[in-house]
Amino acid sequence: MKGARTDPDCRRCRLAETRTHVVSGTGDPRSPLMFIGEAPGRDEDARGSPFVGRAGKVLDSALESAGVSRDHVYITNLVKCRPPGNRRPKTDEVDSCRAHIEAEVGSIRPKVVCLLGQTVARHMLGDRSRMRDIAGREREAAVCGREALVFVAYHPASCLYTKENVESLRETVRLCAKAAGLP
Ligand code: URA
Repeated sequence: MKGARTDPDCRRCRLAETRTHVVSGTGDPRSPLMFIGEAPGRDEDARGSPFVGRAGKVLDSALESAGVSRDHVYITNLVKCRPPGNRRPKTDEVDSCRAHIEAEVGSIRPKVVCLLGQTVARHMLGDRSRMRDIAGREREAAVCGREALVFVAYHPASCLYTKENVESLRETVRLCAKAAGLP
């Protein structure tokens, strides 16, 4: 299910020159739980959907272990176009894309937001803490101007290289689901 569709012809930043697809969020547009990743990777760019590659499988398995169907949450990215070579999005690219994530948060109106990884926590909350100090902690915060219960989780891609992050990600997803009243 598609959510708030981002302009598929967006040319607000340089990423438009190298991307294949503008990757909109997917899932239940009325879900109380929204996941925000960093930016599409190669598989997402090719297929036009978020978290459909290897990192997506890690996220799917964390959702499954929390007993939550992917169809019952909303999944999107901070930046909608793939940065070349999967580099981190630059601050000006995040700023150019901000209107898109603001529109999504304003339309989905999630009760609980799960920010995937340190880059997303930094841009969404201005929090530069180390992941080990903030992963899994609940806080009330404004995300794109809307109050929500916010958790920061290890990015699923980090779990591919650091197996110790897997259990933390799963636990954070379980906490998010419980706070959101899912399944
Ligand atoms: N990593 C992300 O942050 N988002 C995706 O959609 C895929 C990988």
